[in-house]
Amino acid sequence: SPALVRAESLIRSIADYPQPGVLFRDITPLLADREALHATTEALVAPFLGSFDVVAGIEARGFILAGAAAIAAGSGFVPIRKAGKLPAPAASVDYALEYGTATIEMHDDLPAGSRILLIDDVLATGGTLAAGRRIVEELGYVVTGISVLFEIEALHGRDIVGDVHTVFRS
Ligand code: 5GP
Repeated sequence: SPALVRAESLIRSIADYPQPGVLFRDITPLLADREALHATTEALVAPFLGSFDVVAGIEARGFILAGAAAIAAGSGFVPIRKAGKLPAPAASVDYALEYGTATIEMHDDLPAGSRILLIDDVLATGGTLAAGRRIVEELGYVVTGISVLFEIEALHGRDIVGDVHTVFRS
């Protein structure tokens, strides 16, 4: 759609952020645009409508899109956070980064078997979303979809994440 074409043009690339050699995709101009945010949110959830109970978003930019997606779909929202930020009992999953490791956490208080749509902003190496899938499954919920705004295809993240819907890619 024309709105999605325009939305894509509002993703800007920032060289050498956060480190030299990295080309960072900055989605903040897209988020700031009423029409682009609306079209993008619809495109994130459209393939999965009716097949999930809750949208889970990965900290921090994933929260923005997952919150918008939950409103668009009429579902609830659950945060998957970096270690140490959640107040109630939570599961933890460690995963590898380019340098070192990271940990994500998710509360364990959804009904068993809850169907989850997992959302993040960018699919790069796939480590983050693979960890997201693992934590959801460890808690006894079911990942019925994974949806991402922008896929960096050269990093082959989908090889470890599995089936993932991406709105834009390079
Ligand atoms: P991965 O684990 O797939 O290598 O990296 C994905 C995670 O890092 C996502 O949570 C995403 O927010 C962040 N990320 C990696 N590269 C970029 C990028 O170029 N732009 C944005 N906005 N986030 C990125």
